[in-house]
Amino acid sequence: MGEFSFIQWIRKRQRRRRDVTVGIGDDCAVLNVSSDKLCLITTDMMVDGTHFDLRKCTVRDVGRKAIASNISDVAAMGCRATAAVVSVCFPENTSEKFAKELYNGIWDVANKYTIEVIGGDTISGRSPLCISITLLGKDGGLKPIRRSGAKVNDMILVTGTLGGSILGKHIHFEPRLKEGILLNKHFTIHAMIDISDGLTADLNHILEESHVGAILYEDTIPVSKAAEEIAKKTGNTPLYHALSDGEDYELLIIVSKGQAKKVMESNLFPERTFRCIGKIVSGRGIRMKYAQGHIKRIKPRGYEHLQSEFNDSGEL
Ligand SMILES: [Mg+2]
Repeated sequence: MGEFSFIQWIRKRQRRRRDVTVGIGDDCAVLNVSSDKLCLITTDMMVDGTHFDLRKCTVRDVGRKAIASNISDVAAMGCRATAAVVSVCFPENTSEKFAKELYNGIWDVANKYTIEVIGGDTISGRSPLCISITLLGKDGGLKPIRRSGAKVNDMILVTGTLGGSILGKHIHFEPRLKEGILLNKHFTIHAMIDISDGLTADLNHILEESHVGAILYEDTIPVSKAAEEIAKKTGNTPLYHALSDGEDYELLIIVSKGQAKKVMESNLFPERTFRCIGKIVSGRGIRMKYAQGHIKRIKPRGYEHLQSEFNDSGEL
C-alpha cells in the first residue's frame, strides 16, 4: 500500500464534524473556531536518513527545513501562519549544543514570518533524530484556497524553477508565503498546492480533488539548473527531474485564463516569475504535449516515501 492509498483509507473512515471546514486531503486542515474566523492546521514529520541526512547537512538546516515545509503548506492555502508546536525525538546522548542548534534553525525561519513556537514535546530515545512540527494559521479575512476548485479551460501556473532539489533546494528554500497571500488577496485563484511530492504528483492531487484532467506543454516547464546538473549523473532527462523530483516548494496555481494573464503581468511580485505550463481539460490524468507536437499520457510520479513500510506518512 502506498502513502496516498493509505491516506485515502484513513480519509474514507474518518467521521466528519460540522466545524471542521476542511478535513483530510488538502495542504492544511481548516477549523471553524468562531462564526467568522478559521484556523488552519498542518503537520509534517521528518526523520534522519529519510527526509534529511545529518551527514550532509547541519542540524540547524534540519530545523529550518522542518518549519519551512510547514509554512509552504499554509502558503498553498493562501493564508497566514501564526504559531508552531514542535515535537522532537533526539537520539540518546545528544549534546545540548546540537539540541539548541535545531531550535536556532527553526527560529531562523519562524522569526522571519513572525511565527511563535507555542509548545511541543522533547524526548530522547534509541532512534535517529525525528522532528514533527504542527503549524497553525489563520484566514486573515481570506478564503483558504482548496485543491478542489480547478475548472476545465483553467490555466496552470507555477512559480520558480523545478527539479534537482536534492542538490540543495530541498534544505535551502524560501516558502512562497508572501506570494500565496498576495495571490489570494488580489486574484481569484481556483486551486493551489505547493510542490513537495513532485510537479506531476502534486498536480495530480489537484486533478483528483477537482475531478478534471490536465495537459502540460513540454517547452514551458521551468527546468532548473539543478535538474540539468543531476540529469548528467542519473541519465534521466532534465525534464524528468523537473516533473518528478519534488521538494521544490514552489506553488502550483490554477486560475482562469484572464486571471492567469493578470497574475503574470502583475507588479505585485517583483522577485517572482510565474510560468504558464499547461491547462485544465475534461477527463482524468495528465497528458504532455511535446515540443515536436505529439501528445502522450504521462504517469504522475513523484517522491512517495511510504512504499513498502510505514516509515513515513505524508499529508493527511
Ligand atoms: Mg502541501
